[in-house]
Amino acid sequence: MLSARGNTTAPVDVIVIGAGLAGLAAAHHLLDAGLTVRVLEAADRVGGRMATDTVDGFRLDRRPQLLNTSYPEFHRVPGLRGLPLAPLAPGALVRSGGRGYRIGDPRGIRSAGLGSALERARLAATLGRLASAPDGRLAARPETTAAQALTRRGFAPRSIEGFLRPLLAALLCDPELQTSSRVADLVLRGFARGRACVPAGGAAKLPERLAAALPPGVLRLGTRAERVAVHSVRTVEGTELPCRAVLVATGARAAAELLPGLRVPGFHQVTVYHHTAPVPPLREPVLVLDADRLGPVSHSLPASAIDPTRAPAGRPLVTSVVLGPPPDGDSDKTVRAHLAELYDTATDEWELLGVHTDPEAVAAMPAPHDLRRPVRLLDGLYVCGSHRTSSTVQGTLISARRAASTLIRDTLPSRSSQQAAA
Ligand SMILES: Cc1cc2nc3c(=O)[nH]c(=O)nc-3n(C[C@H](O)[C@H](O)[C@H](O)COP(=O)(O)OP(=O)(O)OC[C@H]3O[C@@H](n4cnc5c(N)ncnc54)[C@H](O)[C@@H]3O)c2cc1C
Repeated sequence: MLSARGNTTAPVDVIVIGAGLAGLAAAHHLLDAGLTVRVLEAADRVGGRMATDTVDGFRLDRRPQLLNTSYPEFHRVPGLRGLPLAPLAPGALVRSGGRGYRIGDPRGIRSAGLGSALERARLAATLGRLASAPDGRLAARPETTAAQALTRRGFAPRSIEGFLRPLLAALLCDPELQTSSRVADLVLRGFARGRACVPAGGAAKLPERLAAALPPGVLRLGTRAERVAVHSVRTVEGTELPCRAVLVATGARAAAELLPGLRVPGFHQVTVYHHTAPVPPLREPVLVLDADRLGPVSHSLPASAIDPTRAPAGRPLVTSVVLGPPPDGDSDKTVRAHLAELYDTATDEWELLGVHTDPEAVAAMPAPHDLRRPVRLLDGLYVCGSHRTSSTVQGTLISARRAASTLIRDTLPSRSSQQAAA
């Protein structure tokens, strides 16, 4: 276990609460600046929402993550550089009207399923422009919902329904596309710029890598913070831990419990199904999107074709996502029936390996959405996590860096002046 006990009540500069992605990344930034840090994690493992179960030799993500090789934060967080990523093939395989059409590199769209040559050229040109758009240009666009923005920007209905809507629903975990168009633009820009990918070996590899790179004694697992003040944290066991500053890096609801006054956002529920199939339903490592919404599955991944380390040899793994609760009745049967259509193959012999549902999987980001929510609540009390920026790995890492830099700016000058006075 990564827990480090030792002298865990000695004062430190910063106590970070939560060893999810935000807390671990922030801890690295703070340590890099020379501050002493302790990370308290309530669970007996790191990673929070980035969790992977090992079942029968399979690596099953409790919440499937589609990352992007273009995320700049992968290169900025000490400890994440060189993270092994398993890229998907560019584009997607879209199923609609009983047919499947392959969309290759989104900037060079050729699929006839997306309408006339003119419509396809317009879609490719728009995605190409988006790929090179700087942040400022995206921020200057009028903000509305992602759904309204798609229609207002003049895309052909077939481009929207046949590609953009199912793609954005999958990337935002938001089937109705009520997410802010600013967030949707950023996510779509990432898709047009880089390659969708998953962490090799499972989502948990990302936080595990960050935790393994922490110096001994920093991380304390199985320790729930019950109360925070500017210069101390009390654990549920009643231990008072002194510090110079506190950074709350939990999910949104837990943060609001520790910091009354913080708003609890709405959430999107996500349910994931993992199946093994007798033969691979698809050999290409491509994202499979449902465009018709006639079944419960939003998107599916031939997971072992994308990342062979997720399954034992000869036992293909398929990971599928329902954006909402599990369907009523025999949900596995309903999901397999839909997967039979999406992969155009029989799924009667597919074996269910695991189902996981989370009613509060992803914090909703309706318009207007502030991508730079304050990270300093008081001098000495800070907050970070996906709810401060955007509910993506990139957003989570940005919030961690913003909170850590604010805290470093506030703390280091006072430390230097105290040292000078001593
Ligand atoms: C279903 C799903 C799909 C996603 N898909 C994508 C995607 O496709 N692309 C993408 O970029 N991002 C995706 N994300 C987003 C990404 O996973 C999250 O933004 C990120 O993991 C959030 O990290 P966090 O550190 O803010 O919070 P969390 O992961 O929730 O970590 C918070 C930690 O704080 C701990 N904690 C809570 N309370 C206390 C306490 N009182 N004391 C001590 N510890 C405490 C918790 O145990 C937990 O470990 C997805 C998320 C989900 C759930």
